[in-house]
Amino acid sequence: MGGAGFLGSHVCDALLDRDYDVVCLDNESTGSDTNVAHLVGDDRFAYRRCDVVDTFEVSGTVDLVLQLASPASPVHYLAMPVETMKVGSLGTMHGLDLAARHDARFVLASTSEVYGDPLEHPQRESYWGNVNPVGPRAVYDESKRFGEALTTAYRTSRALDTGIVRIFNTYGPRMATDDGRVVPTFLHQALAGEPLTVAGDGLQTRSLCYVDDTVRGIVTMAESAHTGPVNIGNTHEVTMLELAKHVVELTGSSSTIEFVERPVDDPEKRRPDTALARELLDWVPQVDARTGLSRTIAWFSEALEARSVGA
Ligand code: NAD
Ligand code: UDP
Repeated sequence: MGGAGFLGSHVCDALLDRDYDVVCLDNESTGSDTNVAHLVGDDRFAYRRCDVVDTFEVSGTVDLVLQLASPASPVHYLAMPVETMKVGSLGTMHGLDLAARHDARFVLASTSEVYGDPLEHPQRESYWGNVNPVGPRAVYDESKRFGEALTTAYRTSRALDTGIVRIFNTYGPRMATDDGRVVPTFLHQALAGEPLTVAGDGLQTRSLCYVDDTVRGIVTMAESAHTGPVNIGNTHEVTMLELAKHVVELTGSSSTIEFVERPVDDPEKRRPDTALARELLDWVPQVDARTGLSRTIAWFSEALEARSVGA
């Protein structure tokens, strides 16, 4: 579910590498079939354009259901508030029902946003979070919190085999340049020679994880019997101003920095405690920021070049 998105498409790749048959369900609201175009023709891969807010069935044997369908960029979920709440609630329920019908394991892609603007730092799984239920980000945060509660209810009352991963900010190839999240925005701006739009004073922090590490964490959790929630993220924390300067340095850009308005309820700091992932899944991130950003810059440069040739 959500397999044509940024993370979902890399999860499809990883599962095929591990010799699964994969059925990818996506309504292309924020993803695109171009993210999985390279998989078409592989007879272990099937793509179905559908909205998981509506009921659906998958024929044959199903061993694993991965629920990644949801807008994830603040720009996207603020533009689609009700759709976000529907996919986090009804979409997640339909994935759980599919898993229950097939006696399959279900894994929910939850988020560090369940911690809201955290009062505990770094964030451990035991922290309940600090979310404004009527703020603009609530449509995402609360739908993920609801998804976690629903997943737990299916496990405790219906004996479904479930797992929850709380994913922290992840970046890498296949993020859309107009996605609005900080890494694709800064990279696009730096490569175009435009000013990098740093929100507020840029002193708020995030801890950015390269996509290969996150996907390995998701797949390891899927293949385990653990229920979670388990944090998956990189512990290397940076301010957004530091990130902007790093991007300018790595791209060799002449871009300047422009300070813009900070979004409402934008969390001040975020860093995962990953002790549980290390202990249960033997998972630690392996790609440092310089390597991950350089790989992403190379991919964005090629994508922008291909677009300008095609234009
Ligand atoms: P994305 O927007 O690239 O991918 C989400 C995919 O879900 C898209 O392909 C979209 O079209 C699809 N989708 C949305 N609503 C749907 C619906 N109703 N029916 C079918 N498909 C639908 O975002 P992403 O970064 O790949 O995130 C994937 C998942 O991981 C999301 O659930 C997100 O909440 C979670 N997550 C991501 C991050 C991150 O940093 N990338 C961090 C925390 C959690
Ligand atoms: N941000 C920024 N400039 C941008 C986009 C985002 O400074 O052009 C900031 C944003 O305000 C937040 C951080 O970068 O503090 C991460 O934002 P993103 O949307 O990537 O993810 P979030 O963690 O907020 O969901």
